Amino acid sequence: MNDCIFCKIVAGEIPSYKVYEDYDVLAFLDITQTTPGHTLVVPKEHSKNVLAMTEEQAKTLFAKVPAIARAVKEKTGATGMNILQNNEEIAGQTVFHTHVHLIPRYDTADGLKIEFTNNMDKFDLAELAEKIRF
Ligand code: AMP
Ligand code: ZN
Repeated sequence: MNDCIFCKIVAGEIPSYKVYEDYDVLAFLDITQTTPGHTLVVPKEHSKNVLAMTEEQAKTLFAKVPAIARAVKEKTGATGMNILQNNEEIAGQTVFHTHVHLIPRYDTADGLKIEFTNNMDKFDLAELAEKIRF
């Protein structure tokens, strides 16, 4: 994709702080560094996001995530990691080339805060499961 910033990083047209590269994927530091070592893993082949990927494209990307995540965790000395992935604007996607965020965690005040609201009383889970099941 001509106007895609991550395609340009993959092609070496825009600089990045690479931490891993192979035939299929590139991993580089996210410029925001939410926590130290915050890394993005991207497939070299352009896709918009996970919702637009084929099974093969997803396998190719996600197969590489565990090893890269372990290396980031071990080499930063982090004690845990959030692995996040945003799809579409409403979900916080700002760059429309599939990417996986590896966010090393150090302590509760390290820069990332995720809260899951418990709304179980508001919804009929059986009905929802029935609606979604395929
Ligand atoms: P998302 O909001 O999930 O689409 O994440 C996009 C991420 O790309 C953001 O965290 C940005 O900080 C990051 N980003 C955008 N441009 C660059 C760049 N040139 N190099 C590294 N990270 C970038
Ligand atoms: Zn792209």
